[in-house]
Amino acid sequence: MQKIYLDNVATTKVTDEVLTEMLEAYGDTFGNPNSLHSFGRDASALVDKARDRVASLINAKNSEIYFTSGGTESNNWAIIGLALANRAKGNHIITSQIEHPSILEACKNLERLGFEITYLPVDKTGLVDIAGLLHYINHNTILISIMASNNEVGTIQNLKTIAKIAHEKGVLFHTDAVSAMGNFKIDVNDLEIDALSMSAHKFHGPKGVGALYVRKGVKIDNLIVGGEQERGKRAGTLNVPQIVGFGKACEILQENYIIDTKKTKYLRDYFVTEVQKEISNITVNGHLHQRVSQIASISFNNVDAKALLCLLDLAGIAVSTGSACSTGNVEPSHVLLAMGLSIEEAQSTLRFSFGTNNTKEEIDYVVKELKRAVEKLRSISPIKAKK
Ligand SMILES: *Cc1c(COP(=O)(O)O)cnc(C)c1O
Repeated sequence: MQKIYLDNVATTKVTDEVLTEMLEAYGDTFGNPNSLHSFGRDASALVDKARDRVASLINAKNSEIYFTSGGTESNNWAIIGLALANRAKGNHIITSQIEHPSILEACKNLERLGFEITYLPVDKTGLVDIAGLLHYINHNTILISIMASNNEVGTIQNLKTIAKIAHEKGVLFHTDAVSAMGNFKIDVNDLEIDALSMSAHKFHGPKGVGALYVRKGVKIDNLIVGGEQERGKRAGTLNVPQIVGFGKACEILQENYIIDTKKTKYLRDYFVTEVQKEISNITVNGHLHQRVSQIASISFNNVDAKALLCLLDLAGIAVSTGSACSTGNVEPSHVLLAMGLSIEEAQSTLRFSFGTNNTKEEIDYVVKELKRAVEKLRSISPIKAKK
């Protein structure tokens, strides 16, 4: 049976060229980049090269990139580190209701420390309410953190507008760009971003490595302490091969993202058109245009999404009920609820996320299997029987 992977927001396959550079780094360059001898210097040179590549992708300076263990750590660090370092100015933070749990839970921790958090609502397309943002900013606000694009429905926020509003009020702006990288070009200077989280495994790099960009001059407290690595800002021996892989993935992305996004958009749009043609009573979630090319979030009226996911899995097709983090969790997606879907609608929603490795033939097979599975589940649905 063929296996089709349509869960490219959960993670992606490491590219061969990335793996090749990583394996080289696992070889003779095994030194600790902080050691003063030649073994250390060789490893350190690899880290430097990777840092240049990461910085270049988002038009940052080399010295503004701090390597972390991935998107979750970068988000935790940005929220907690920026809040604590700027506490003298105020204790109020603004974020949105549709952020990744690594933002929302970090905010919850800060609430326990006496910070006040505003969780902005979104409209039914998933866009943050700008009027609400203006309304809630006050003299105690020190940080606004709004994700670049949402990982469940793909809606892209008005980053530049939000950053401008923040800066007019003297407030810092952080963005979780983890699911945006690879979907559209992010230039931290053009978009006036003060801090940005990224993660390698969402764009064909290895898992467990990412970065936090922090604009020069922005104060941030350490989250991980006990060593002078990363210019004293993030302790712990650097994971050189992972960092090398991350750097290579950034370089490849920078060269290819226009071609890549064209391909994923073509596949996604073809998929959505075919599904709309073949299956009745469905809703496509998220913003129609201001949306990453990779994602299709679809609600299948009167179908249990978990059951649908299992039937597709039996047919060799891998999709998701939303964020990978909520797997095994019966809670409906907080993102879909914030967008105004009912609990039933949220629980009848699947996320299909496309990658450059997917083909049109695969999509045809998926649509056929999807139609079959939806019809099967609807035919046995108790809700339908009642009507
Ligand atoms: C995947 C993801 C994260 C978490 O990143 P990890 O590297 O997996 O820890 C954070 N935010 C968004 C939007 C994501 O899609």
